[in-house]
Amino acid sequence: MKITIHRGTHQIGGTITEIQSEKARIFIDMGEELPNEDKPSSPIEIEGVMTSNVNCDAVFFTHNHGDHIGMFSRINKSIPLYLGEASKEIYLTLQKYLKSTHLNHLEQIITFKAMDKISIKDITVTPLLVDHSAYDAYMFIIESDGKKILHTGDFRNHGFKGKGLLKMLSVYAKDIDLLITEGTTLSRSYQTVLSESELKNKAEKLLSEKKYVFVLCSSTNIDRISAFYQANPHGKYFVCDEYQKDILGIVEKHGAKYTDLYQYKNVHIYSSKLVSILKAQGFCMLVRNNPKFAKIMKQFDPAECLVIYSMWQGYLEGKNNDLKDFLNDYQWISLHTSGHASQETIQEVIGLLNPKVGVIPIHSENPEMLNHLRVSSRVIMLQDKESFELD
Ligand SMILES: [Zn+2]
Ligand SMILES: [Zn+2]
Repeated sequence: MKITIHRGTHQIGGTITEIQSEKARIFIDMGEELPNEDKPSSPIEIEGVMTSNVNCDAVFFTHNHGDHIGMFSRINKSIPLYLGEASKEIYLTLQKYLKSTHLNHLEQIITFKAMDKISIKDITVTPLLVDHSAYDAYMFIIESDGKKILHTGDFRNHGFKGKGLLKMLSVYAKDIDLLITEGTTLSRSYQTVLSESELKNKAEKLLSEKKYVFVLCSSTNIDRISAFYQANPHGKYFVCDEYQKDILGIVEKHGAKYTDLYQYKNVHIYSSKLVSILKAQGFCMLVRNNPKFAKIMKQFDPAECLVIYSMWQGYLEGKNNDLKDFLNDYQWISLHTSGHASQETIQEVIGLLNPKVGVIPIHSENPEMLNHLRVSSRVIMLQDKESFELD
């Protein structure tokens, strides 16, 4: 198999991985670059994928974050797209809310479940469910011609579902030849990672101290929403808007049968009729940075309000940042943990899998860091568009 990282060898987000076998050409993820004030995004054109002379058998998406799926609309419509079942429903709901004009293209996505074996000519792709800040995220095992690659997508093991990661890999990802791993945290200084359940405990304390709590977090960071939902004290309302409730409904439909983490029996949709009871009882409300929520929030005494910022700190950096304006009207606090594996976890995964040929770091601003961590396998450093032959 020939592996080409079209983008993402030295940046977080927008990663595109091509895997070519004797008979098939497939891609893993095709997302948008994250906004970066210092570096304008570079347009990308992939022959046979975004052009009319189609030469691509499938594009697989590991999960529905924009930096992995955001360029779907540029893919030639005749190319089959693959995404997890719940992940597709959530993404469709989000795109409807954003008034996307590409809903028909999205509807065509073929869905899969964990452990399905998907054959694309002489390639077999097997999705493994992983813990990440997007619900229904996957790693992929890609097999062809007796060789085996594991592509991690984005993952972590400090979330609610993370405990099973190493065990799952030791059972289902044996005899890996090549590991393609995300390395988001390689560029960050080594720090102890707050687990999602420790975050839940901190949330519990904050929610019991303040009467009106607004949580600013991504509408699709489901495990985070579950953490706040479970942390909300008895008697206090848990409130969101209709769009957010639709997203939670999808998660409940797919996930509630496995764990009570995804049961949201007492989630209320905000309406002006609720204001008097919300004032009396107190609440935890999921909000986003927009004028609709700003207006809702103004109805409550600021002295009794707390805003919890539960997203990546990086979004607060940079000029012309209306997020900061949104927060600065209130007493606010940051409570967040990363959706990405710590350096220690990346080391552990490499050590466990011990890929025979080596490991290619992607989705990282500092992949070279992997050479400094003591990993047992050969580290293969690629540049964007560079190929590596696995034979
Ligand atoms: Zn990502
Ligand atoms: Zn992600």
